[in-house]
Amino acid sequence: MITGSRRVSDYKQLMKELPTLRHVDPERVYINLPGERCPKYTVHVEKGAKVKLGEILGERDGGFFKQPIYSTVSGTVEGTTEKTDASGEKIECLVIKNDYQDTYHESITDRPDSVIADFKKKDFVEILKDKGLVGLGGAAFPSYIKLDTDKDIHTVVINAVECEPYLSSDYRLIKDQPEDIFKGLSYVMQAIEADRGVIAVKKTKRELIEVLEREQGRFADKDIRIAKLDDYYPQGWENATFEKAIGIKVDVGTLPMEKGILGFNVSTCAAIYEAVKHNLPVIKRHLTVNGDAVKFPQNIRARVGTSVKELIELCDGYRADAKAVEVILGGPMMGKSIPDDDAIVTQTTTSVLVFESTDHIEEPCVRCASCVYSCPVDIQPVSIMNAVKRNDEKAAQELRADRCIECGLCAYVCTSKIHVTDYVRKGKALTETK
Ligand code: SF4
Ligand code: SF4
Repeated sequence: MITGSRRVSDYKQLMKELPTLRHVDPERVYINLPGERCPKYTVHVEKGAKVKLGEILGERDGGFFKQPIYSTVSGTVEGTTEKTDASGEKIECLVIKNDYQDTYHESITDRPDSVIADFKKKDFVEILKDKGLVGLGGAAFPSYIKLDTDKDIHTVVINAVECEPYLSSDYRLIKDQPEDIFKGLSYVMQAIEADRGVIAVKKTKRELIEVLEREQGRFADKDIRIAKLDDYYPQGWENATFEKAIGIKVDVGTLPMEKGILGFNVSTCAAIYEAVKHNLPVIKRHLTVNGDAVKFPQNIRARVGTSVKELIELCDGYRADAKAVEVILGGPMMGKSIPDDDAIVTQTTTSVLVFESTDHIEEPCVRCASCVYSCPVDIQPVSIMNAVKRNDEKAAQELRADRCIECGLCAYVCTSKIHVTDYVRKGKALTETK
């Protein structure tokens, strides 16, 4: 059992050793109607309708792309309700009562390998678009748009670095489904005729490297390599991963495709396999429930739409001696603190973290510059913070707030415990309105 006295690294180590708990039969699922990049939506089903697993329920509209909304259970539509998502806001969700039959929609059928072998880029792009696949590491960028590049791509990099503390969902995914990851990568390489595939993983994760190297032997006809990277934060930031994994520096603001690289998070890669081979949208995903205020942290495979409260109960609930708790969706560095546990798992939920709340008193800035020295994209968080306090959009722009990758390091190192990252996010938003 993990207790509050353990160090952060102990949490990650212990979680790695826990098997994946399959929690795939919730009584109800709550399917988010707006998505991370899609504020608008239309629903095609009425209250009382019987729906099948993998059936299209409606469509999200992201302006520059559309995303079908899929049912993740078979059952009956009960109506709509509001739940919290990773934005921290209440959003409209479609409630579906599970009939526990797992009746698949007729469209969900396997494709023979011989058919897939003849696929060209347009076929893969069409499938990823139909299945509404987005970056599952949290970015939620549509995968079909990424794949549909007209650039000459020499290397596909699969990011399995998972550098945030407390998270172990990618770790468990690789342990549980290594073949799916290699197949997903092979499909991407086939689609864009890339010469080389690279799976980037931390060199400290020896068990994972063993699993991946074993699988690598079964794909010996392809140039797929395992890159073993250092264990530091934010090594999983895409640009840092590319530089260390394949020795190519991608400047902030430059698209990796311009340098002949295409990158996918490892869970997106496994989902690409499921979409192409089984014609499946994202129905279930691996996630971590962890933190010092949850009784029994777990690695869980859950349906999209599962209630976060239910997952915490599955971990035996909150520690009885925790006076007040804070729930975060996503990692402790880049995730979002949400007001309560009345939240849902979406396609991009990597983790639910539960910490005992502590009084957090911000002191005045002492101009120590720790935030400046720690920033991986070489901007000045403290100056941006001051610009935001003055509501000075021009200064925020000149200080290049737009380059911030929201890694959270400036807040983490701040001597005065100031939420510097929140200010930089606001500065970034100011520049985006220009
Ligand atoms: S969150 Fe802070 S440290 Fe990280 S990139 Fe943004 S400004 Fe820099
Ligand atoms: S780390 Fe905190 S105290 Fe130091 S300069 Fe940055 S904002 Fe100010």
